[in-house]
Amino acid sequence: MEEKIIYDGHIHIGVNRPMDPAKFLADSARAGIGGGLVLSPPPVGLPDAHGVDIPAKERMIMTRDFCEACGKTFFPCFWIDPIEKDAVSQVKLARQMGMRALKVICSHHAPSAGLPVYQEAAKYDLPILFHSGILWDGMESGKYNRPCEFECLQEVYGIRFALAHIAWPWTDECVALFGKLQNGCRNYGRKVDFFIDASPGTPDIYRKQVFRNFAFLGYDLTDRLISGIDSNIHNYNWEWGKYMLEFDRKMFADLNEEFRNFNGYLALESFRGSERPDLNRLFENSIHKNLLRFIGEKV
Ligand SMILES: [Zn+2]
Repeated sequence: MEEKIIYDGHIHIGVNRPMDPAKFLADSARAGIGGGLVLSPPPVGLPDAHGVDIPAKERMIMTRDFCEACGKTFFPCFWIDPIEKDAVSQVKLARQMGMRALKVICSHHAPSAGLPVYQEAAKYDLPILFHSGILWDGMESGKYNRPCEFECLQEVYGIRFALAHIAWPWTDECVALFGKLQNGCRNYGRKVDFFIDASPGTPDIYRKQVFRNFAFLGYDLTDRLISGIDSNIHNYNWEWGKYMLEFDRKMFADLNEEFRNFNGYLALESFRGSERPDLNRLFENSIHKNLLRFIGEKV
């Protein structure tokens, strides 16, 4: 039987650090990871760039070449600064260069400042992974990264996007936004495809509560949750990766038990009996399938 690949949907490339595909493959394999989304080094305007200015095209080439050296199961993602002057044209270039997604961190601008870039991304069917939640960037950026700031994304017809880290500590706001945008699609002619990136950043003690909230509110993440570690290619933290995968597997199994045995009314949406989503399947999809869905593969 073909062994199923476990994907990590959130792997960074830093600046000025050695890039060794063989070392990365060996390290990630120790966590059982066999594929993932590899995020390019950051644009120069971001704190993580530490002032190192690598031109957009070069960042794409570095990321593409690294992924190619790792095999067909690692996918390049271009980290774009949506308020750079030529950002809109960088989207088309990203598509041409084989990038499978865009990454955005709003350190110094509101999400809405990037709408023309997101429109362009939707046109080329490029999904966008947004940082959301408190941002340890040494800047005053929390106000840009609360989930409700991302309500503006509903203006972009056909956008596919994910909010990372379940927006910790604003996890309730993230759950509510998920419900709101789904409602917008059903009742107000919106078309958005909203994924959640489960990468930590969200501490262990919050994880069970937030996924319980999604489930008991009737918000189905079966095809919408992407597992990720938020480590990097240089020194992949396989021990943490292994720990997180086991933590989430057990957490979803426990929640599934609780969910099956709950006879009361589920708020907002009304799943009944066997129609309730299977949270073990949700977990399996989050590690095996949903990243592929996110980048537009048919699975
Ligand atoms: Zn990250």
